[in-house]
Amino acid sequence: MRYISTRGEAPALSFGDAMLTGLARDGGLYVPETVPQFSPEEIAAMAGLSYEEVAFRVMKPFVSETFSDEELQGAITRAYAGFGHIARAPLTQLGPNHFLLELFHGPTLAFKDFAMQVIGQLFQIELKRRDQKVTIVGATSGDTGSAAIEAFRGLDNVDVFILFPHGRVSEVQRRQMTTPVEANVHAFALEGDFDDCQAKLKDMFNDFDFRDEVGLAGVNSINFARVLAQIVYYFTAALSLGAPGRPVSFSVPTGNFGDIFAGFLAKEMGLPVERLVIATNHNDILDRCLKAGDYTKRGVTASMSPSMDIEVSSNFERALFWAYGRDGKAVSQLMDELKTTGSFNISENAMGALRAHYDSGSVDEARTLEVIARTYETTGELLCPHSAVGVGVAEDAQARDPATVMVTLATAHPAKFPDAVEKASGLRPALPPRMADLFEREERMTRVPNDLAALETMIKERRRA
Ligand SMILES: *Cc1c(COP(=O)(O)O)cnc(C)c1O
Repeated sequence: MRYISTRGEAPALSFGDAMLTGLARDGGLYVPETVPQFSPEEIAAMAGLSYEEVAFRVMKPFVSETFSDEELQGAITRAYAGFGHIARAPLTQLGPNHFLLELFHGPTLAFKDFAMQVIGQLFQIELKRRDQKVTIVGATSGDTGSAAIEAFRGLDNVDVFILFPHGRVSEVQRRQMTTPVEANVHAFALEGDFDDCQAKLKDMFNDFDFRDEVGLAGVNSINFARVLAQIVYYFTAALSLGAPGRPVSFSVPTGNFGDIFAGFLAKEMGLPVERLVIATNHNDILDRCLKAGDYTKRGVTASMSPSMDIEVSSNFERALFWAYGRDGKAVSQLMDELKTTGSFNISENAMGALRAHYDSGSVDEARTLEVIARTYETTGELLCPHSAVGVGVAEDAQARDPATVMVTLATAHPAKFPDAVEKASGLRPALPPRMADLFEREERMTRVPNDLAALETMIKERRRA
């Protein structure tokens, strides 16, 4: 299987090269040249298997030219061994035909662990095989950074630099990034918002001298390996609810579009997915775009669900690539337009292709609090604010289509956002015992300017040669 760029210019790569590279050299994102398909019989045969076994079957056709079965199986086993729930991604019921997929039982309490733990293992195998070192730079709105640090801390052949927006992440999120003691971990608090962090990261990838000098690698969801690992829980959830015999819809709290795009690929592989519902907070550029066909930046304002405070939704480019019939030139033009004018218009045809799979909705701050309070009262389940946005949008979608079973992805543990949860419910959720001392640990971070040259110099100085 080869991986090609959404902008059509960069050379096709193997899975291993695409994983270690991250962003394509034409500025695009790697996607598989063809999507492997499962028959209904093959899907039915996965029912009742462990999470790890389903992960192996789903990921194998994408990676088999780079990793042997033993390597992939070992990586998956080690990746999920540290999770706090034997099912890894358990389902609970919220109401008639509405289920919550709990994706917060990993080491940093957000769904990002599902992919990051696997790619930490896959990077180790591949870097050792190639006798290569890399500098990972990641941009985070809060959860990717801690998940990446957790997956790569202490590794000899990796330095990890995480850029997060100063003052815009929750205290638990910040402490998870600033308290690891390993010398290969570097937390950078950038003067700016998440889109600034992500833009600086892209600029570093487009500075080929810097990129080659430090061996730059990316683990943001621009990295296809991240998206790949996230396909798995769409399968396990749907299988638990009667797939392939019964279609399932998903409501996905969305920022960078990585998680929901994994759901789209699950559908392309043959999983019967009815609707993929994009759930946004008041930073609703994706909802507006799905409704009106134009993607126009208006500026981000901070919300209770900071991991979704995003306006440049990087994986949306992958969705556009499919919507435009995999025309890299068309995608390239849209992305240039966005960079120069702050907006682009999507053609009628492409909008039709998007609407064939995706719905959307947004939930404001007041309703987020209301959903947290009401869900706790009616089910005993405490939702984090991101998951509450997903539940609110799912409720609207269910009003339109009550017959299809709906799964809302719970993307983080409520204890990661205790202030919002307490404000809504009066309850302050406790951290799981394994991280109960987080507030006593010493923090270590560097304030950095929103300036490419300064950042590159600091990274060069600090990385261990
Ligand atoms: C990252 C994140 C999201 C958004 O996921 P995308 O893949 O960027 O769309 C939603 N909720 C939480 C808690 C997250 O950490």
